[in-house]
Amino acid sequence: MKPYKNKINRIRTFALALIFIGIVIMYVGIYFRNHPIVMVIFMLLGVVAIIGSTGVYAWIGLLSMKTIPVECPNCGKHTKMLGRVDICMHCNEPLTMDRSLEGREFDQDYNKKSSQQ
Ligand SMILES: [Zn+2]
Repeated sequence: MKPYKNKINRIRTFALALIFIGIVIMYVGIYFRNHPIVMVIFMLLGVVAIIGSTGVYAWIGLLSMKTIPVECPNCGKHTKMLGRVDICMHCNEPLTMDRSLEGREFDQDYNKKSSQQ
């Protein structure tokens, strides 16, 4: 089985990673103190990565409004679903909004098909 993760959690991890990447890029820039142009380029790239991450966080905020809160049948906790199929945030149980997909093996492609409406 593929290691699927809850979509909201996955995007959040990506945004966090972007911040760290931005900091690392700026840190690398400090090593080029003797080459101001190179240093400025690294600093700008770092700032762009951090701004990008802020954008991703704003995007999560927008997505959160479209999520459907459901109670996970497996662990009983409340989780947020995005799209027709998603994974429980707490126990990684596959969840579906579509009864016709119930019992089927989890497949992210179900979301792609539904998004073409
Ligand atoms: Zn669960």
